[in-house]
Amino acid sequence: MEKRWALSDFEIGKPLGRGKFGHVFLAREKKSNHVVAIKVLFKSQLKQSQVEHQLRREVEIQSHLRHTNILRLYGYFYDQTRVYLILEHAAKGELYKELQKCKYFGEKRAAMYIASLARALIYLHGKHVIHRDIKPENLLLGAQGEVKIADFGWSVHTFNRRKTMCGTLDYLPPEMVESVEHDAGVDIWSLGVLCYEFLYGVPPFEAKEHSDTYRRSSYSFQLLLKFQTQTGWSNLSYQ
Ligand code: ATP
Ligand code: MG
Repeated sequence: MEKRWALSDFEIGKPLGRGKFGHVFLAREKKSNHVVAIKVLFKSQLKQSQVEHQLRREVEIQSHLRHTNILRLYGYFYDQTRVYLILEHAAKGELYKELQKCKYFGEKRAAMYIASLARALIYLHGKHVIHRDIKPENLLLGAQGEVKIADFGWSVHTFNRRKTMCGTLDYLPPEMVESVEHDAGVDIWSLGVLCYEFLYGVPPFEAKEHSDTYRRSSYSFQLLLKFQTQTGWSNLSYQ
């Protein structure tokens, strides 16, 4: 049986960050001495913003994922006013901050991140999970500097969705199977944008001049195509 956690199982340490809903703290599980991050969410706030359903999905999806480049969600618990998520501690913090500090990354470093993210996406998409919100703010860094996808608040499990919608996958019409790939393309597109941003320092479509936006987006698309041929991801559509 899965263990039921309670706040008394943890020693709470310094704050690690603050999000829209979450206050995140460093924590240590008393019995094992295992260091984790605990995200505290207020029920009243979740209710007010009508995101309880989204949180439930986030927990359901993230707790089942096991990949070095995906932030682990070990479990959760709650009391009368709060919900607590027990997360893997990403010791080197936000990738976004690193990027701001360095302005842009060298090719080797960018390639390392992109390759890791590609592996994580292959794993995710293989499980019919689409993240839908891949961006530097949602990427954290582990103790060895390895990138970890976090924040599954916008993710969906397409298999489940389709299953509840129209029976088992076996009975899906081609266009629906097709749309699984089409949906997963959203994450691949984001990866292309990230690749550009890592190398260039700003996202490709952020420009004052239209012509500039066009030039940048076409460069990004070229990178993406190159990446696509190299990885063999040729049957994904980009939109
Ligand atoms: P938002 O919806 O605004 O993105 P949120 O409520 O989802 O916020 P998070 O983004 O998950 O909250 O967390 C807030 C901040 O806490 C992060 O930006 C990061 O700096 C820090 N943080 C979150 N999780 C961890 C973790 N596992 N390890 C280390 N730091 C973390
Ligand atoms: Mg966040």
